[in-house]
Amino acid sequence: MGKIKVTVWNEYLHEVEVPEIGEIYPEGIHNCIGNFLKEAGMDVKTATLRMPEHGLTEEVLNDTDVLVWWGHMAHNQVEDEIVDRVYKRVMDGMGLIVLHSGHASKIFSKVCGTDTGLLRWREDGDKEILWVVDPSHPIVDGLDEKIIIPSEETYGEHFCIPKPDDLVFISWFEGGEVFRSGCCYYRGKGKVFYFRPGHETFPIYHQSEIQKVITNAVKWAAPIKFPELTYGNTKPIVEIKK
Ligand code: ZN
Repeated sequence: MGKIKVTVWNEYLHEVEVPEIGEIYPEGIHNCIGNFLKEAGMDVKTATLRMPEHGLTEEVLNDTDVLVWWGHMAHNQVEDEIVDRVYKRVMDGMGLIVLHSGHASKIFSKVCGTDTGLLRWREDGDKEILWVVDPSHPIVDGLDEKIIIPSEETYGEHFCIPKPDDLVFISWFEGGEVFRSGCCYYRGKGKVFYFRPGHETFPIYHQSEIQKVITNAVKWAAPIKFPELTYGNTKPIVEIKK
């Protein structure tokens, strides 16, 4: 098998506008993620909101096996046409990894069919413990039974998502909240993984276990070989004797 082709998409506004965040991610969150995926042997491109067509042209998407998505303050600036284009590629087999505040993105809501923007949140820098609740899942390969993040933004239930096809992580936070932090969905030929950690004011994507989860998720979400799907009015497959 050739290298997995990954496109890391980032809004890329916080890192430019807030110096403290720029210090954590001097090259932007997209390059931080892109760099560890490259080290894992993947073929990586990056794309950002302000690029023409948000960097997600037909050409780029057709050459992408897995798209990683980080967005927060500008979900509504993502053009519907581009969201539809990404969705179509997911149905056709492109993997999609939605990170942290991408829960409220147009693409994740479209994939889920619910208002995924609804959840509880607080910014108190709580400790977070992500517990693996599916120890057979490829996304937890090589990990321990739990991941401890010293300081993170808190998300809490209820999270307005459809019941995940695979639930991989549940988070506990110091303030008592719990949250479904690792959720898999199967859509058409595509695989989708939502992974909660990654608030921009903490160095979450520098943490090795978090990098391991995202790397595993990209491998899991990479497309398999399968013919194009057939929909609509069709002739019988076997001859019907009347
Ligand atoms: Zn956040």
